Amino acid sequence: MKKEVIGATHRFGILGGGQLGRMLIQEAISYDIHVHTMDLNSTDPSATIATSHTVGDIKAYDDVINFGKDKDVISVEIENVNVDALKELESNGVKVFPQPRVLEIIKDKGLQKHFYVENNIPTSPFELTTEDTKNYYYASKVPFVHKLRTGGYDGRGVELIKGEKDLQNAFNAPSILEELVPFEKELSVIVARNEKGETAVYQTVECEFNEVNLVAFLFSPADISNDVETRATELAIDVINKLEMVGILAVELFLLSDGTLLVNEVAPRPHNSGHHTIECNVTSQFEQHMRSVLNLPLGSTEMIREGAMLNLLGEIGHTGRAKYEGLEEVISMPGVHVHLYGKKDTKPNRKMGHITVAQKNIDEAKRVAKQVKGKIRVIAE
Ligand code: ADP
Repeated sequence: MKKEVIGATHRFGILGGGQLGRMLIQEAISYDIHVHTMDLNSTDPSATIATSHTVGDIKAYDDVINFGKDKDVISVEIENVNVDALKELESNGVKVFPQPRVLEIIKDKGLQKHFYVENNIPTSPFELTTEDTKNYYYASKVPFVHKLRTGGYDGRGVELIKGEKDLQNAFNAPSILEELVPFEKELSVIVARNEKGETAVYQTVECEFNEVNLVAFLFSPADISNDVETRATELAIDVINKLEMVGILAVELFLLSDGTLLVNEVAPRPHNSGHHTIECNVTSQFEQHMRSVLNLPLGSTEMIREGAMLNLLGEIGHTGRAKYEGLEEVISMPGVHVHLYGKKDTKPNRKMGHITVAQKNIDEAKRVAKQVKGKIRVIAE
């Protein structure tokens, strides 16, 4: 008999204690779904609001086994977890979504790129490099993008090697060397798939990154033609179907000036490029992730408001107890929704929260979002 997922007897575990888990818990509470989390600190963003929080290392085999063995379903809010332990839990009957075999592919950018090539998914040309790859070889490849195969996130582990002077930043570790793509826009499509193989896709969004590769602004909908919109959403559905993945997948795309779409990378979990869905869509990406991994019907992805999202990043030069300057002024502005992640301390470029500006039209949302950006700062007390 199917065990009821609503209520305290169902044990839903999330590996990772960050803001993505926190926002998922905020949605789970509405369904009386009890979420148990594990990560290194008892003060992590989701630790303080989870039904229970276990202090443990999501990369350590034993910790993941001990956390997972009494759970009904395990999911993740970060892909850098111990996959061997998840495979063991899966073989013992615990449902693990996204599946460990999918996490294994995605957490290694080299395997991810091979997957695209093998499955006819368009992506930029690449080759693998190792710690033995010689400097003169790199010099012959300039310009290129160098990416650590594992462990990088939020722009860390990615170096744009545009000229000879950047060669000193090339990684001395297993990496991928990618052609530098002259993209016109960076797009993202969020798509969910449940155990029945049903999919639900959100409208394409457009991302603007800052100088350290963090999302500075996100706009929903993206300013693209209907043809690009259709192809982008079809591509995202194709990727999740080919992965046969259960859960939510963010598909990051490059749009070239001739209309070509290339998959940059994917993330098998709620993603920064879907935060606006909390206010702007019928079902948020967090609720959708929960629905998909718990084998519940998928929710409507319909857009109810157009919107712009900006990350609240720790101000450069400020480290210590966080203070949000300008908060009262920005919440007096129309359509402004604040999300603070409950991180006590700020440091340069740390993701401390985000703001979504939900409006009837995207131009107004953009205008207010740019104003908000100029008024709010996360500084140290
Ligand atoms: P992360 O895992 O940190 O998100 P990404 O692979 O998304 O890393 O790369 C971060 C950013 O670097 C991208 O958003 C894009 O701006 C730039 N970038 C990545 N790959 C390329 C490429 N092949 N050509 C040009 N820019 C790239």
